[in-house]
Amino acid sequence: MTKRLIFLGPPGAGKGTQAEILSQEYDIPHISTGDTLRSAVAQKTPLGNQAKDYMDRGELVPDDLILNLIQERLLEPDTDRGWILDGFPRNIAQAKFLDRLLAKLDLAADYVLYLAVPDEVLISRLLSRQRRDDNEDTIRRRLEVYRHDTMPVIDFYQEQDSLKTIDGNDSMEAVTAALKKAIS
Ligand code: AMP
Repeated sequence: MTKRLIFLGPPGAGKGTQAEILSQEYDIPHISTGDTLRSAVAQKTPLGNQAKDYMDRGELVPDDLILNLIQERLLEPDTDRGWILDGFPRNIAQAKFLDRLLAKLDLAADYVLYLAVPDEVLISRLLSRQRRDDNEDTIRRRLEVYRHDTMPVIDFYQEQDSLKTIDGNDSMEAVTAALKKAIS
């Protein structure tokens, strides 16, 4: 059985942590657009140089920088048994692009998993991380961008009947167990 998983949820919901755990468990790649962008920024590549200011402000990086990157990544040979998308799609245009891309490849996501966590928990989790875009102003902006651009993506998958909501406000182990149950 393939495992093509899309992780949705606000910043601080635990998507990256859980994606990493399940990626090892199922031996499928963890595809994080945020990680890819952060490493591009650190290496000062053209992509990183273009993305940096948006990331520092807590804004989304323009779609034209992201869509090509995802398309190339999903064509890599290590994706044949599945993947975990973490941080993509982040808006409706990206979700529609992904739908078209998967259709073209004759594929579909197996599960769309939404990690739900209350706002006050998110803010305290984000403030305890050490990332350069985890200061108070940027966090506020990222949560706004999430509400405005990314929450419609949750509705988009809900309408397609492919969404499973997982309570992300629990211990790491409990969330992992809930995710595994949802996709087994
Ligand atoms: P993340 O690690 O997923 O929280 O992403 C960190 C930052 O990278 C975000 O605040 C955005 O600036 C940028 N980013 C990551 N994924 C995307 C995406 N799919 N579309 C646009 N910007 C993104």
